[in-house]
Amino acid sequence: MMLTDYHTHLRTDELEATAEDHFTEENASRYRAMAGERGIAELGVSEHVYRFRQALDVWRHPFWERYAHDDLDAYCQFVREQTDLRLGIETDFVAGAEDRIANLLAVRDFDYVLGSVHFLREEAVDMDDHSVWDSGRSAEEIWRRYFQALGEAARSGLFDILAHPDLVKIWGPAHPERPLPEGDLRHYYELAIDGIAESQIAIEVSTAGLRKRAREIYPARAFLKMCLEAGAPIALSSDAHRPEDVGADYEQALELLDGLGVRELCVFEGRARRLEPIGALVS
Ligand SMILES: [Zn+2]
Ligand SMILES: [Zn+2]
Repeated sequence: MMLTDYHTHLRTDELEATAEDHFTEENASRYRAMAGERGIAELGVSEHVYRFRQALDVWRHPFWERYAHDDLDAYCQFVREQTDLRLGIETDFVAGAEDRIANLLAVRDFDYVLGSVHFLREEAVDMDDHSVWDSGRSAEEIWRRYFQALGEAARSGLFDILAHPDLVKIWGPAHPERPLPEGDLRHYYELAIDGIAESQIAIEVSTAGLRKRAREIYPARAFLKMCLEAGAPIALSSDAHRPEDVGADYEQALELLDGLGVRELCVFEGRARRLEPIGALVS
């Protein structure tokens, strides 16, 4: 019996949140303590790849150039030697850079790799800077391109877990400039399903969406159901950026999973995956 939280960050996304201040035994132990309180035995950390200098060998987006300051190997060494956390990383899918991403990942001993689609080409899905929503494109086009990229990310074979799978909904149903597309959203989800089915990548169920304007778990129930029908196993995470959010709102995630008949969660070690029965939350 097992609960997991594999998608956590030891710091916020602010540039000012330095590795020196946050990659410490004391900070890691705060995350461990919160996980313990909530009955989460499997805890891993997955810092953003673009915070590390080595990411610039993969991509030189201006946003990455601004944020890539830390040493990736020092991070790996810190997690291995000074914490009892699983070692993960959140890596963007950058179309056309698959070989360079593979090289960056291959020479380090991660327990698991999260794959995320935060950008469509040069434009960001989930932040104000470089926003795809400022490009004059329709919601329909943005959603279409997002789910196509998600399917490619799955099919690339680079990642163990597909993170926040419908991140594109982050702005919620009522944003004046960043609306949802009209009609049945399953038409968009469908664009990613072949890649998910073929790769058998794990699908992340993330409570982070509940803390965003979307006010909904990633992925939406209908998309999660399609992933399950495609045979995908599930990885459960909070995407916490501070200790208080480790395992946040897991009651809702477990209810969603139970309602869809999911009884097992993925557990990762050395990039090998096994399934364990879902454990109970401590409240
Ligand atoms: Zn992310
Ligand atoms: Zn994250």
